[in-house]
Amino acid sequence: MKKYIIIWDFDGTILPSDPYDSEQETVMYILNQMSKRMHPVRRLFAKAMIYADMKKMLRRRFKKFFAHFLINTKVETIDGIAKMLAKKISTEDREIFLKLKQYGHYMMVISCGTVDLSERILRYAGIENCFNLIEGNRFKIESGHIVGMDFHIPDPKDKLKLIKQLNINQENAIAIGDGYTDRPLLDWAKIAVLIDRAGEKKARYSDKKYLTISSINEIIDIAENFCTDVTPLSI
Ligand SMILES: [Mg+2]
Repeated sequence: MKKYIIIWDFDGTILPSDPYDSEQETVMYILNQMSKRMHPVRRLFAKAMIYADMKKMLRRRFKKFFAHFLINTKVETIDGIAKMLAKKISTEDREIFLKLKQYGHYMMVISCGTVDLSERILRYAGIENCFNLIEGNRFKIESGHIVGMDFHIPDPKDKLKLIKQLNINQENAIAIGDGYTDRPLLDWAKIAVLIDRAGEKKARYSDKKYLTISSINEIIDIAENFCTDVTPLSI
């Protein structure tokens, strides 16, 4: 069996994110924990930020708001959130990642989200070691508290920049994502897979020749049987 470099997006792809992704969940967790101690304006700002991000109105500006909102948050808080969110990765999906690793595929996570969250979530789900590389935007931490963020991959096109720096041959790459932030990578990879758990993305991506899957386990079949002569599944 051919060994692939499998490049995963995180939120919405590895971590089911309906209705909230890991960053939105983080803001909500802090809102719930500190509700009574938080200034009403700050509380309102946080809620507006989640709403606008869900409506895709903020894009990369959300990252700046998010990092700002989390300043002075203890690192242990992030651990607690990650532990909770790891439960969203099902036992079945965890087994698939372990199987793909066992088959010898080289796997990486490249995300426009917060890598401190994705690393911890994967660790608590027991699958961090399945991935040779986990990249994203990283908190700056001083004395156990968040003090800012290094924006390493703020934009979708930054994912592709990183892939090019890593010198990955697109013929050997399977890219898997769930939407907007994955398009540059999906358009680049030899095998581009769109995960559509709820079956509502087909129309939005009908101009693209992406293979569509509704669950992670379909990747096993794609890695085993994909042949370039086969017409991509229609979406
Ligand atoms: Mg995503």
